[in-house]
Amino acid sequence: MSPLVEHEDSCPFCNETITFLIDASQNEQSYIEDCSVCCRPIQVTTRCDPDSNELLGIDLSRS
Ligand SMILES: [Zn+2]
Repeated sequence: MSPLVEHEDSCPFCNETITFLIDASQNEQSYIEDCSVCCRPIQVTTRCDPDSNELLGIDLSRS
């Protein structure tokens, strides 16, 4: 079972606030997620603590 953490942040393309669902069971992961507003691909890099299922850091950039 994957603990999902909700995180709101602004899209690096259109600046709209969008919600990301992050799998907190991974220490570090990097993936592409399309913006739900402008549909452009956002490079998402996250750092989490799998023991407490907490999001430690997130980085969003234009892929
Ligand atoms: Zn966008």
